[in-house]
Amino acid sequence: MPAPRHRSRSLRRLQRKMPGGKVKKVYLARKPSRPKCAECGEELHGIPRLSKVEAKNMPKSKKRTERPYGGFLCNQCARKKIKEDARLLGSGLAKA
Ligand SMILES: [Zn+2]
Repeated sequence: MPAPRHRSRSLRRLQRKMPGGKVKKVYLARKPSRPKCAECGEELHGIPRLSKVEAKNMPKSKKRTERPYGGFLCNQCARKKIKEDARLLGSGLAKA
């Protein structure tokens, strides 16, 4: 019977070969899900799958693409949004 802390499915279960040659079950933290575009749901590129602790000490420029809506919208949706924003601004319908 596994230890009580290992009975939950919050950790991944993997078979790993130990230095002595025996295969043992190891319990590892799951990676967070891949970031998705807020508009179309497509997976975002250039964003590492990091835990909060890992992300804390990483520069911001390595955690998202460096453009408007980077890390929030995919490149096609960001392009559309920037065009929409520019057209709204030109027509005088923009809020501020
Ligand atoms: Zn998108």
